[in-house]
Amino acid sequence: MAVVEKHTFQAEIKQLLHILVHSLYKDREIFIRELISNASDALSKIQFEMLTNQDIVDPDAELLIEIHADPENRILKIVDTGIGMTAEEMVSNLGVIAHSGAREYLQRLKDATSAAELIGQFGVGFYSVFMVADKVEVTSRSYLPDAQAWSWISSGEDSYEIVPAEKTTRGTEVVIHLREDADEFARVWKLREVIKRHSDYVGFPIYLYPSDKKEEGEETPINQQVALWRRPASEVEAEAYNNFYRMLTADFEEPLVHIHAQGDAPIQFYALLYIPSRAERSLLSVRREPGLKLYTRKILIQEYNTDLLPDYLQFVQGVVDSEDLPLNISRETVQSNPQIAKLRQVLTKRVLSDLSKLADSEPEKYARLWAEFSQFFKHGVVSEYSDRERLLPLIRFHTSTHPDSWVSLDEYVERAKQVEGQKAIYYIITDSVNSAVHSPHLDPFKARGLEVLFLTETVDGFFVTALREHQGFKLVSVDAADLDLEGIGQVPAADETSTPVEQDALDQLLVKMRNVLGDSVESVRVSKVLSTGSPVRLVAPEGTLDRHTQRVYQLLDREFEIPPRILEINARHTIIRNLAEHLERQDDELVESTVKLLYENALLADGIHPNPSEMVEHIQKLMEAATRL
Ligand code: ADP
Ligand code: MG
Repeated sequence: MAVVEKHTFQAEIKQLLHILVHSLYKDREIFIRELISNASDALSKIQFEMLTNQDIVDPDAELLIEIHADPENRILKIVDTGIGMTAEEMVSNLGVIAHSGAREYLQRLKDATSAAELIGQFGVGFYSVFMVADKVEVTSRSYLPDAQAWSWISSGEDSYEIVPAEKTTRGTEVVIHLREDADEFARVWKLREVIKRHSDYVGFPIYLYPSDKKEEGEETPINQQVALWRRPASEVEAEAYNNFYRMLTADFEEPLVHIHAQGDAPIQFYALLYIPSRAERSLLSVRREPGLKLYTRKILIQEYNTDLLPDYLQFVQGVVDSEDLPLNISRETVQSNPQIAKLRQVLTKRVLSDLSKLADSEPEKYARLWAEFSQFFKHGVVSEYSDRERLLPLIRFHTSTHPDSWVSLDEYVERAKQVEGQKAIYYIITDSVNSAVHSPHLDPFKARGLEVLFLTETVDGFFVTALREHQGFKLVSVDAADLDLEGIGQVPAADETSTPVEQDALDQLLVKMRNVLGDSVESVRVSKVLSTGSPVRLVAPEGTLDRHTQRVYQLLDREFEIPPRILEINARHTIIRNLAEHLERQDDELVESTVKLLYENALLADGIHPNPSEMVEHIQKLMEAATRL
């Protein structure tokens, strides 16, 4: 590296700086939070390094942050004894945005009046200093024994300089030359207030000095240094939880739920966990991977730990801190550590039981959570047998009798017990509530007053296969070939009113239908369950893939051919009666077209029609025949 090097900022940073310098944000003070958070990160890193390595600059230096206020010269200085930066690190950390969503971020920042919620994102917190500074000098000495000290200097325009510096102690010093309109940030009272507000829980002591000289005598840190998660839940205000979440994730929306847990047995831990309001991590999130922050005795061991919660809960954000994990635990050995397994058990149990309570006490809030995360919990039922008992009370479905609310399995069973003869939980697998409501498979259930669960997510097929039964009630698909509703629920009213087609005519029709449909169906038979509403339905022959598995196959591979199914006809339905009568008089195109369309309608209703546009042609044929009369 040359003695003085001038570097141009990456284009995105130029834009960022331009916005920061020229916009008037109401919350400029957050630049202090950002710089302190960088100092604290740097201290965490050296703390972690020192667990295994003593061959560093200043191994005995106290881990601290100093704030020096110099109002006369309008200078604010933030000093840390953290890991420091080499010249190369300064170039890559303070000259480039590595984040892929930069453009979207910049657009949002341009339109915002409040920078606070945006600035910590993308790892660009440092630049917030240019909301208040007309010049910034960062001088740093890396912890590496043979590294030199360097200064990074910029006035927030197009470029920065890197020059050699005199600094013998480890760490970083940020000297901020404040703009005239930002002179308050060199005043002790203001700094005290801002630091109290945003950085009180920072885990390292922050000392505040009224001038550039360290004063004699006793000094006490101005921050409490008690991490939020280590404080008793009863002392923490709701707003503090939300602020911490925002700091952690830079999420725009408030979390749906926070869980603040502490425990001693079987393992000591503090945990502060959040359920975000969205299942999808925002493009703008600072959390670039799933996982929880793991601290051991206040030292950050892992930024993204995915072993503390099961896979299906990886959307949970937060921090876990334990006194019982060995300090020499490394990122590599975390996974196999038996204490981690204990923590995972405790945390999982806690999350599930808190959610279960929430479902009871705040059903509306729970409904929002469910709408967002339903498939994760169902995956849990499928994949984590040991959590199943705890997960089941969380599961909800829409049902045929409650299409607009969420029904739990227990509620369903409670109601089913009141129904004469019901021994099963009936479900229908479709792609939406709307298609479930209109499915021919529901007719016999509606007629008997039976409730049917609507399974509309891809995971649901696996869910019912894994669960099989609940509280002694078998899970039964409405299109099961052996479905028998005899003696269950109310006797369908239609049974007495409409009369079925005569046997001879019916036999003739069955043969005709079989001929028309050929190998596309396994067989054609009279339905035992259809009595009102729909003329036909399709059922899966015993032993073939069930419908939901087929749907998954279909989703994966468009070429997939549906194995032939059994077409059941409703001998009491007007269309079937008319068709049989018509066939007795004449066997013509009308019969053929109607049969084909009945079959295709059934495929469509089940969401398995391989090519719905073909129906247009068949409908036209039918109209031709109909208009000829
Ligand atoms: P983030 O903190 O999200 O990574 P910032 O823009 O705040 O983004 O900081 C960019 C990078 O600059 C940090 O990741 C870190 O590598 C480096 N950095 C900033 N301040 C310090 C500091 N005081 N000590 C060491 N490195 C620092
Ligand atoms: Mg930062």
